[in-house]
Amino acid sequence: MRLYNTLTRKKEEFVPIEDKKVKMYVCGPTVYDYIHIGNARPYVIFDTIRRYMEYKGYEVNYVQNFTDVDDKIIKRANDENISSKEVADKYIAEALKDADGLNVERATKNPRVTEEMDYIVDMIKTLVEKGYAYEVNKTVYYDTKAFENYGKLSGKNIDELEAGARVCVDNDKKSPMDFVLWKPNKPGEPKWASPWGDGRPGWHIECSVMAKRYLGDTIDIHAGGEDLIFPHHENEIAQSEAANGKPFAKYWLHNGFINVDNEKMSKSKGNFFTLRKIADEFPYDVIRFFILNGHYRSPINFSRELVIAAGNGLERIKKCISNLSFLGLNSKTENISDKEMELLNNCSRFKTQFEESMDDDFNTADAVAAIFDFVKFANINADDNSSREFALGIKNKILELCDILGIRAETDEKIDSEDIERMIEQRQIARKEKNWAEADRIRDELKTKGIILEDTPSGVRWSKKG
Ligand code: AMP
Ligand code: ZN
Repeated sequence: MRLYNTLTRKKEEFVPIEDKKVKMYVCGPTVYDYIHIGNARPYVIFDTIRRYMEYKGYEVNYVQNFTDVDDKIIKRANDENISSKEVADKYIAEALKDADGLNVERATKNPRVTEEMDYIVDMIKTLVEKGYAYEVNKTVYYDTKAFENYGKLSGKNIDELEAGARVCVDNDKKSPMDFVLWKPNKPGEPKWASPWGDGRPGWHIECSVMAKRYLGDTIDIHAGGEDLIFPHHENEIAQSEAANGKPFAKYWLHNGFINVDNEKMSKSKGNFFTLRKIADEFPYDVIRFFILNGHYRSPINFSRELVIAAGNGLERIKKCISNLSFLGLNSKTENISDKEMELLNNCSRFKTQFEESMDDDFNTADAVAAIFDFVKFANINADDNSSREFALGIKNKILELCDILGIRAETDEKIDSEDIERMIEQRQIARKEKNWAEADRIRDELKTKGIILEDTPSGVRWSKKG
């Protein structure tokens, strides 16, 4: 498995610190509103990478934080006359609902800043003691000049950064590049006690602290959107490596941005969409599939046409799966033929194609193409004469690949007796109206769910098969 490491600017072979285990930290959203369509990308992409690693036999410890202390949260709380905690609780629940919709596996742990305050204060204390941070007027700053490798992730040179920085507005800082680790709260803001007085932490420190607490001093993968490379991740490295005296993360992965109609999404431009709003129009599964259709490091453009096209593609896969179910359940041939056996063995090439794509820096676009090739193969080779084992064998092999990408290609085939009775009734109505096509369609739909109808003199009887 090779992945592009932002830190070294090249593709590298993935070698975990500990055999078959992956410690992965992904920066999560600031919870002051519903997550937007851009936030959906890291959710889907890093979930897919995790799924692929699990498929490859790694045990992934996946930590993603929620930033629940922030100016925007405080503003929203004041506007709505509720507490910051109420705002955060609400939008954490909503973010998880969206993530569930996108079929994102739950993280091993979702730490929240407000629950980690003692550990945050501890790390800041360590940084002060070790000479990497200083206090001025109850505010603690990170001393970027004290950290030798500042700029190594983003490839920025600290002297150039400093020269390029506009007039330093904050006169208390030694250098314009220094950043806040702790600051006093303003009246009405949430606050916590610290050796530097009551206040709250800056943004960057939380991820250093949570990664250490839940994954250890050195982690395998640190991930997030590319906007986080500088300054957020650069600052995380400076904090963690200075405090722990060890390398922080071995591999840094960053997703490209989702733009809307080829423009950067922003509230002021009016092209800003929450995922919830988009999900009113398109199923979550289609949105996930749309995201997987691009390589995670390339920018992708969100437009209705492209999402509709993704939806059509997904439909093609679903149709093939449902057709294979139908053929399997209704096949008259139980035993697989030699020719079918050979064809089935041949299918391993699609899996190889899929794995080669994913092994090459998680190229989900090519992995999806492998699934489409497989679907084409199924459509050509499975028909009414196929054996049950062949049809269902291909189906399971396609589903296995879909599952690695978190694509739900099998329509829910569970059906309760009430639904069955209702559909039988609709079929009877269609028959009375001599609408044979509709009557057949209903019978076939039931068949794909394993329900077989039998017309008897005393009415329609149904039974479950498979
Ligand atoms: P935020 O709540 O802005 O801190 O973002 C949470 C995650 O979403 C981070 O990993 C961001 O880098 C990522 N992100 C934010 N906007 C976009 C976007 N338009 N496209 C892709 N990723 C984004
Ligand atoms: Zn972070």
